[in-house]
Amino acid sequence: MAATEVRDPVRAALESVLEEVRSRTSGEVASYIPELARVDPDPLGVALVSVHGIVHEAGDTDAHFTIQSVSKPFVFALAVDALGLDEVLKHVGVEPSGEPFNAISLEPATGRPLNPMINAGAIVMSSLMAGDTADDKFAAIHSGIQKFAGRDLIVDEAVFTSEATTGDRNRALAYLTLAAGTLGAPVDVATTAYFRQCSISVTARDLATMAATLATGGVNPITRERVISENAARWTSAVMTSCGMYDESGSWLLRVGMPAKSGVGGGIAAELPGQFGIGTFSPRLDAKGNSVRGVAMLEAMSARFELHQLQHRGDPLSPIGSLTRDDDETVASLRGEIFFAGAEEVLARLSPLVSDDGCLVLDFADVTRIGDAAARMFRSAPGVAGRRADGGGEKVVVRDPEGLLGH
Ligand code: GLN
Repeated sequence: MAATEVRDPVRAALESVLEEVRSRTSGEVASYIPELARVDPDPLGVALVSVHGIVHEAGDTDAHFTIQSVSKPFVFALAVDALGLDEVLKHVGVEPSGEPFNAISLEPATGRPLNPMINAGAIVMSSLMAGDTADDKFAAIHSGIQKFAGRDLIVDEAVFTSEATTGDRNRALAYLTLAAGTLGAPVDVATTAYFRQCSISVTARDLATMAATLATGGVNPITRERVISENAARWTSAVMTSCGMYDESGSWLLRVGMPAKSGVGGGIAAELPGQFGIGTFSPRLDAKGNSVRGVAMLEAMSARFELHQLQHRGDPLSPIGSLTRDDDETVASLRGEIFFAGAEEVLARLSPLVSDDGCLVLDFADVTRIGDAAARMFRSAPGVAGRRADGGGEKVVVRDPEGLLGH
């Protein structure tokens, strides 16, 4: 029996956004790396990968391009995952620079580059990767980026050679960080690893998968492999939010509101934590080095589908599913996922029901998940006597068959 074709509404949405921006041919392909000046300016693609690993795509999502600066958040993620945040923060700051990606931007007192999304900070991140040689460091980067993408990726050797032979400004930035004591390797080791990292060849679908791996809290949603810790994913999303779009990061946060990172190869990776990753590809860049049509597609999607991360989403479902009175017992059936605000609601609304002549039962049987902070709030709430299947004499009795509250 033939399967019924169901039109994918997300794909339809991606297609409509793509057609909306197709006619925009403003901007120029990057030319300061000679090999990039030769790329076809016309491809246009967008892919979205959900945290469940479902892929939706429209346009040229198989077209390959070099990842360039979109690699930066992922290498930062690998660095904080391997070394811890404190160690990494000895080498790089996390403040938006408000300056172009290739700016000489070092904190006067510490010599740290302002953030890991600009070249100076990114070269320092590459220098912190494991190993002594450029090959070792690049091997660590390459293997990490491949895990984010969920497939083997090759280096575009022509772009690498082109960038390595013309990359004096990046070498100058590396020398400045070396002099300031923040570079973790000799200049040629750090910059060679960095140039190879920028020359990794990817598609819009790869960028969407990589961003989705941040959105899940560090697990590639397609391969199901954990690539980095939840903390590393959160820190990376935070730095993308504040610094990902260079000197356009503030207005990007205002208008689009998704953590994102652009690259001069024409790619942008964006994500909505807990929901999805998006990858866009269109090589013509605006004056700040961001893809003109990539920015336009993400702006349109954010506005049309209410994707801004700070969007008010209405009151969440109350965790109090039902309240039943049975003789001298009031049973509150709690449900769903309970985090700080849910615990606050339960405790504030139900504590007036605790009286001298009766007891309140908090039933957690239908609760699917509880955050650590919420569990602590319940455990320390006045009158919560114990976590027994069946209490007697206490004012508040907790039924917690799955042991969600811990101890
Ligand atoms: N490889 C490029 C450089 O270092 C990356 C810049 C970018 O994508 N913004 O100049």
